Amino acid sequence: MQLELKVEAVKVKMTRLFPSMLAGKPEEVEGTMLAYLVCHGSMIGVNTGKVLSYAVRCKKCRFRDRAVDKENPNEHDCRKNWTKSSKAMESDMAVEMLSELKSKGFHVKKLIMDNDTTTISRKILKFQPYQKNVTNKLYSLRKEEKYNNLGPKAINHLTKCFAYAVKGSEDAASMKKNLEAIPRHVFGDHSRCSEWCGFVKSPSTYKPTSLPYGKYMAEEDLQLDLTTMFEEYAANSEKLLKVGSTQTNESFNHTVATKNPKTNFYSASESTSFRVAAAVAHKNIGLQTFTRVYENSLLSPGKHTNSYISKASRKRDYQKIVKSSVECKKRRRELISNK
Ligand SMILES: [Zn+2]
Ligand SMILES: [Zn+2]
Repeated sequence: MQLELKVEAVKVKMTRLFPSMLAGKPEEVEGTMLAYLVCHGSMIGVNTGKVLSYAVRCKKCRFRDRAVDKENPNEHDCRKNWTKSSKAMESDMAVEMLSELKSKGFHVKKLIMDNDTTTISRKILKFQPYQKNVTNKLYSLRKEEKYNNLGPKAINHLTKCFAYAVKGSEDAASMKKNLEAIPRHVFGDHSRCSEWCGFVKSPSTYKPTSLPYGKYMAEEDLQLDLTTMFEEYAANSEKLLKVGSTQTNESFNHTVATKNPKTNFYSASESTSFRVAAAVAHKNIGLQTFTRVYENSLLSPGKHTNSYISKASRKRDYQKIVKSSVECKKRRRELISNK
């Protein structure tokens, strides 16, 4: 696996599989939360989008449970590697993954994880709640002060600007500058804007099409309110620098779920470990995984496998290009807003 050596940031996601209820073992309940039997975690590089490290924790072994002599069961491929509390699984996996990356020579600067994970620290935050916060604040501003111009379209644009400023800034100083530029930008003052602004790119042709009636906002009171609001965020830019999206991990979890469906219980055997590993290979290598497996076991892949792989890879590449295109993103937003 070829990876770039400098890892800027890593996304972490822990997924608990199978509450013990599902496996027919309901006695282990911690507080109101069910104890989980299996948990898998993944660390995905922000720049590469590849799974850099993953871990699986399993609390149950079918063979040992069924063995006549439970202390010394027959030899089997045992995957039971956890006996402590289910809550501690996540932090243990995070530590394992981090130390594995360290031993490979990677230096992890920044971890992005969900707010709800109990792992290591809560320092690193998810972006979405912040975005929602901005939208809510803008809507309440509209309601309280009766700004007619501050409609859903304008709010959408302001939220988008906020997302650009937070996600696109490299350091706290530039984020502060970008956040402070937003209230000026929507009023037609582009003196503080940088590359993200359409006016800076082409001053002669730019029109604020994302704003209502394609016109800049004009109300002075509104500008004052917006300036105070965004200055508040700008003052917190150090904190905002730590947010990021765990979307890639969600997508990886979807891949795991297709290979390890939650309706079936595979975890008491070695199956889950193999299924998670297969998902990692799928994510990192793609469909070529099949050919590699065949090659490694000195088999020649069949005619149908090859034709399927080339067909499916072509589809995958095409969708990747189409889905990340600007037109497609625009249309998607349009469809969502029309709902
Ligand atoms: Zn076992
Ligand atoms: Zn601008």
